[in-house]
Amino acid sequence: MRDKEKILRAFDYLERGKNKIDKDRFRESCNVLNKYILDAYKEGIITEEEADTFLERLTTLMTEERKAEKYVYEGKTQFCQHCGARINAEAEICPNCGVRVKEIPVYTEKKSSGIAAVLSFLFTGLGQIYNGQIGKGIVFMIVGFILAGTMLILIGFILYPIFWIYNIYDAYSTAEKINAGVVGRR
Ligand SMILES: [Zn+2]
Repeated sequence: MRDKEKILRAFDYLERGKNKIDKDRFRESCNVLNKYILDAYKEGIITEEEADTFLERLTTLMTEERKAEKYVYEGKTQFCQHCGARINAEAEICPNCGVRVKEIPVYTEKKSSGIAAVLSFLFTGLGQIYNGQIGKGIVFMIVGFILAGTMLILIGFILYPIFWIYNIYDAYSTAEKINAGVVGRR
């Protein structure tokens, strides 16, 4: 026995499941519903007006599904790993189940390249430590000490300034890269 209630339940099922049900199954279900609506009208269970409304609703549903399919094809959607719903590729939280699908971007503290350079100007390695590169900063301090020591045998007068300038440049450029998100703090 055909009845209107079954049609409404079928719509409810398809509208809620359009992003989850396998597309072939979805289209098959739509075709079955289409036939069911026409038969129900022929048998006088629903009026012509009702049949028109239902068919229009079904067309909308199938168009939406095809549009979603097109987005998948164009890579504009993703599947929620939690509930399997097809959702916007840009979505951070699944609108279907509310679970976060994208990691919260890691907050990176901004560094002043000017301060980093000044600190390394004052003391080799200090700007690196300011940038969060503790290990590198300590190595720069030790190398600075050793090169300062070589000044006793004159060669340090060449090596130390070269290293000192490099150390200032490194502190400055690393801070810039951290701010640009190119390097993380090590
Ligand atoms: Zn979900």
